[in-house]
Amino acid sequence: MKFTVPNDNLDKHECPLAVIKCVDFRFRTSDQEFIEKGLGFADFDLYSWPGAAKAVLRQNGFKTEFVEHIVSVSRGLHKIKKLLLLWHWDCGGYGGSKSFTDTSAEEKKYCQDLQAVKDILAKELPDDLEIIMAYSKPVPQGLEYQTIE
Ligand SMILES: [Zn+2]
Repeated sequence: MKFTVPNDNLDKHECPLAVIKCVDFRFRTSDQEFIEKGLGFADFDLYSWPGAAKAVLRQNGFKTEFVEHIVSVSRGLHKIKKLLLLWHWDCGGYGGSKSFTDTSAEEKKYCQDLQAVKDILAKELPDDLEIIMAYSKPVPQGLEYQTIE
């Protein structure tokens, strides 16, 4: 079969942002809406991996490859200015919310790991590439996204 989708982006060469987020399908559309409407980025390179960039903490080949791709593709070709580390609530990479004693423990862990991943990546990525962090958590209306300074 063939299927045609309109696309006005093919002549663009640069975008301001790269994102790494978890593969979890439950968060795909809301994550995208947060990036587009919450942060105001229509165009971004998207890296998606189980647990987002949590695996960077293992200091293994994942970190090496991720850094290489950010530098060569997102920075080198697409000229990104920022990298967003995006975590989500109830992440299977952490065994889900049930692995935590309560919501504040879960929130604390995500914030700790985001900062630790940022610190590792900051040493290896260009100095003028800003690394920003955010995570989502459930509220009665849906998901609330929180950025961390
Ligand atoms: Zn996840």
